[in-house]
Amino acid sequence: MSLANNALEQGKGILRLTPTWVPRSFCVPGRRIKLHPDDYYILGGERGGIDERWFSSTTPAQNGPLTGKHEGLSHVVFQDGGKDALFLLRDAIDELKGEIIGNRIWDEYQSWPMYSKFFDNMGPLPHHIHHNDEHAAKIGQKGKPEAYYFPPQVNNHGGDFPYTFFGIAPGTTKDQIRECLMNFSKGDNKITNYSQAFRLEPGTGWDVPPGMLHAPGSLCTYEPQKASDVFAMYQSLVNEAIIPEELLWNGTPEDRKGDYDQLMEVIDWELNVNPNLLETRFMRPIPVKDPGEMEAEGYVEKWICYRSDAFSAKELTVLPGATVTIRDSAAYGMIMMQGHGKMGVWDIETPFLIRYGQLTHDEFFVSEKAAQEGVQIVNPSKTDPIVMLKHFGPGNPDLTIEQ
Ligand SMILES: [Zn+2]
Repeated sequence: MSLANNALEQGKGILRLTPTWVPRSFCVPGRRIKLHPDDYYILGGERGGIDERWFSSTTPAQNGPLTGKHEGLSHVVFQDGGKDALFLLRDAIDELKGEIIGNRIWDEYQSWPMYSKFFDNMGPLPHHIHHNDEHAAKIGQKGKPEAYYFPPQVNNHGGDFPYTFFGIAPGTTKDQIRECLMNFSKGDNKITNYSQAFRLEPGTGWDVPPGMLHAPGSLCTYEPQKASDVFAMYQSLVNEAIIPEELLWNGTPEDRKGDYDQLMEVIDWELNVNPNLLETRFMRPIPVKDPGEMEAEGYVEKWICYRSDAFSAKELTVLPGATVTIRDSAAYGMIMMQGHGKMGVWDIETPFLIRYGQLTHDEFFVSEKAAQEGVQIVNPSKTDPIVMLKHFGPGNPDLTIEQ
């Protein structure tokens, strides 16, 4: 039997994953993702600090020439003759296909087409944009919708700037934005003069479709997203740091570099100047069904990311002392945020501090079959809830919220 088969058998349809840490050379870590304080710069100064932990990832990190082998890719861990054996989640899915992610997704994508991450930056990020499928195709990539949720468990402090610029202020002209782009290499191009910022609130989130300008604030963010790394930075100065001009043209096909019309085309203008961004893009969690009914059964489950068709996410809380069986129609990855107990055959727990390279019992991938049959979760604590975040692929059949 293969490693993947063995692991799936051992976990009774649930794969245990190892922590996947990713450094960013241009970022200062917010130190909220439980890595040991000595390990945030463990990969050396040139690679930068560890700002991110990726979940359920079959997507390699695009991190420049020094990128490590398998950087960004999740590993499965299982017991092989009393020892921990590791292999890539991507290889397991390539081999077992629909048996892990479900035929519905495998037949359409031949891969797991999303991943999620913690993004933990001390300061704000530049106003930037992700291309849609049409523009991304010009450089051989897929478009990228993403979403944010700010888990209270990793947001004891909000960082240096817990506000997010979003879109373009209504009334702004295209010429004004074009001028900012043309000023990119001249210092501060002041593009956020034409945007509006919203205060970020733990326990809520935002939906970011392709073509939407956004400057993420400094809360620690759980970010489900489509498996793609396409982006372009449209703001030249943020937090007193200059953004290299090459990042403005990142995502532009070679033959159109230097063409500002191309940069303007990537902006979905109507989406950006919509005066009702709070109504259309902000996400307050929505219970998946009647809260009283769920509480009576020992749990509360909420949709936290529900506006994209490329992925969705839920927060599941299992109350102290409860044993519940939770059914989902689709495969998902999950990360523990709080509490401890059992999930299927696995011990689940929430480590307080993790060394770089250390294994954990806080991250798993639930196959479609196991999800549909129902996963039993036991919370033995008398006081502490179990809280986990669950990320799903495209077209989740359970997501029936009207937009
Ligand atoms: Zn983004």
